Amino acid sequence: MASSTPASTKRKAGDTIEASPAAKKISTDIRAVEADGFLFDGEVVSILVGPHGKKFTLHVDPLCSSSDYFKHMLRSSATFLESAKHEVKLLEQSPRVFQLYAQYLYQGKIFSKPGPTVPSSNGEVPLMTETTLLLTAISLADYLQDDDFHNSVIDCLIARSLQTNAWPTTDDSITLSLSSGSSFLVDLIRDFCIYGAHEGWWTNGNVTGETHGEFWASVARGMAKLLKGGGRPSKWVPKNCDYHRHKDGKRCD
Ligand SMILES: [Zn+2]
Repeated sequence: MASSTPASTKRKAGDTIEASPAAKKISTDIRAVEADGFLFDGEVVSILVGPHGKKFTLHVDPLCSSSDYFKHMLRSSATFLESAKHEVKLLEQSPRVFQLYAQYLYQGKIFSKPGPTVPSSNGEVPLMTETTLLLTAISLADYLQDDDFHNSVIDCLIARSLQTNAWPTTDDSITLSLSSGSSFLVDLIRDFCIYGAHEGWWTNGNVTGETHGEFWASVARGMAKLLKGGGRPSKWVPKNCDYHRHKDGKRCD
């Protein structure tokens, strides 16, 4: 009989921070500090997400201070302000990914652990893998023009890749990054390929150039540059800020 997997006790990036007594203490302190900064009052707006219009009811203030898209729509759009029905439709976006965004707005963290699960021939599998969730979240961040969210998701994607030593370089990941509209994400995936590639990709026919030919050409150019400069470092640690969006042009590292 299929049963849902009990929550793992092993800590992972993206887990909530209540996992240990020490973390609980920190968590309580952080919340005590943040409690002064955000009051759960003020105007709210309904946001309908996904093809079935899953409804999220969120506060206007944090939405407008984090996202230029919402700022423009909720603060500047006369049509919207005059409308009695305060409702925004994001029917092309994923409710699962938007939930990650809503959690980030209120809690300032990326909860990247995959879930919920669906039954499959391999047992219960996540509806969306962690990598897909994060790659799609960057696409949402760029759509909503939310630089802080974009940068936090980039940081999370890099941290998870370093922890698991699994770079998001599958054909699906490349497709998602190319369709995200984010040149920073494409640069990151390209650099993952340049620094994390192994010869088997080329000799076993994984890379044929039939898909994403232009992308693989950019990987080859990057590798050629490395060869000129003394080869690939034994351990590559990406500079997160190279893949951030900064409205004022100032790096945060
Ligand atoms: Zn930065």
